[in-house]
Amino acid sequence: MTNSPFTPGIAPARLDPAALDANFSDLHPPLDDHEALVAADRCYFCHDAPCITACPTSIDIPLFIRQIATGTPEAAAKTIFDQNILGGMCARVCPTETLCEEACVREAAEGKPVEIGRLQRYATDTLMEAGLHPYTRAPATGKKVAVVGAGPAGLACAHRLAMHGHDVTIFEAKPKGGGLNEYGIAYYKTVGGFAGAEVDWLMKIGGITMETGKALGPDLTLESLRDGFDAVFLGMGLQGVNALRANGETREGVEDAVEFIEDLRQTGDLGLLPVGRNVVVIGGGMTAIDAAVQSKLLGAETVTILYRRGRDAMPASTYEQDLAASRGVRFVFNAMPVEILGNGAVTGVRVEYTRSEGKSLTGTGETFDIPADQVLKAIGQTLEGAPEALQLAGGKIAVTGAGRTSVAGVWAGGDCASGGEDLTVTAVAEGRDAAEDIHASLMD
Ligand SMILES: Cc1cc2nc3c(=O)[nH]c(=O)nc-3n(C[C@H](O)[C@H](O)[C@H](O)COP(=O)(O)OP(=O)(O)OC[C@H]3O[C@@H](n4cnc5c(N)ncnc54)[C@H](O)[C@@H]3O)c2cc1C
Ligand code: SF4
Repeated sequence: MTNSPFTPGIAPARLDPAALDANFSDLHPPLDDHEALVAADRCYFCHDAPCITACPTSIDIPLFIRQIATGTPEAAAKTIFDQNILGGMCARVCPTETLCEEACVREAAEGKPVEIGRLQRYATDTLMEAGLHPYTRAPATGKKVAVVGAGPAGLACAHRLAMHGHDVTIFEAKPKGGGLNEYGIAYYKTVGGFAGAEVDWLMKIGGITMETGKALGPDLTLESLRDGFDAVFLGMGLQGVNALRANGETREGVEDAVEFIEDLRQTGDLGLLPVGRNVVVIGGGMTAIDAAVQSKLLGAETVTILYRRGRDAMPASTYEQDLAASRGVRFVFNAMPVEILGNGAVTGVRVEYTRSEGKSLTGTGETFDIPADQVLKAIGQTLEGAPEALQLAGGKIAVTGAGRTSVAGVWAGGDCASGGEDLTVTAVAEGRDAAEDIHASLMD
């Protein structure tokens, strides 16, 4: 190995293969049978359980934990999948610390919730690893539905529609299904090709055809889909990226954090992936944390997250902030980039302190420089390529009820649609609910 964390510039193989393997292993290793029984035993099986209310897909958590406790994890998995067909991925990626586990009565009483996420993974893995798909299709209805995008929203919608007996065609722009599960989620949250395996498992319901490499816009129009199908669901996520609006944004070494993570998720060899010696990540959400942590795990010497407001305002949870800090990521709060420095390639970021006055933010005039040879922008994604016929709200496709858009026969859900947090589990809930509404309207 010729490179190290101290090699100047942007370079691959800063760490040896064994160190990379260790760094990118499962963040929360699975529970074994005994550990799962012990964890399940901590549940009080609350009446009116607050954890159910806190789950965007309303999984009956006390029921599935009781099923684990009584030695029937396959039944527990079915309880989970009834509400959330991507329960396996959600068990890995849900920010449970701000959802079900935050609401758990044992969190309030003892500061240690029941490990709902890990128990969910135990149950869903058990059933999926056995190769079982516990659903069959209703008799064919003869109705055809087009789904645009094979992310969590599109997949959840397609599965529920297929269960009701409709024929579904998913049009997916990329070569693989899964959406951000496949291309965006941090490597160490979904190891071992789980995202792809989950798509294959979900497709076992039958009645779903996936056409990859086909995009709404260049290859298909909304009109043609409305003509050719009885209903259309749009689950196309957010493909655009906000601009930094700082001088020097086009310098070599400035990259979109989502693209950086996509390369990381798709590489067959982490040692081939180049990373800066000094990396600055701009932003305060999950993407910023993931890009920063993974840069550090690839062997960057220093990684700094630059966030324009204070720690309390950061969209990333305290848990995620702590995860990043524990991996050696440094935070600079109340500071914004004003210039990307360098001559061709990046050499640093000029930063100005900020002051918040209510909702507005102003620079204080005081600046300082942070050395950098790679700058990752994680400042939010935007909707791109939505058909013009659709009304928008707040930069997303406007929806009412269970995902009805302004155009008859067209539904939308997940990140591309207005309302709801941009989370995997929310996208699943919205895809599922839109499917139920589509089904009701088709069978009317
Ligand atoms: C880096 C990153 C990390 C994240 N980490 C987490 C996490 O740990 N936990 C969590 O809960 N959430 C996380 N999220 C958020 C979560 O991934 C999203 O909320 C979720 O994937 C949204 O699902 P979706 O189906 O709406 O969109 P997407 O997952 O974006 O899927 C949309 C699909 O549509 C396809 N598509 C787009 N345009 C077209 C078109 N014109 N024609 C055909 N197909 C098209 C895309 O290729 C994609 O496959 C993260 C997001 C990012 C960016
Ligand atoms: S709130 Fe906690 S203890 Fe109560 S049912 Fe949910 S997981 Fe169990």
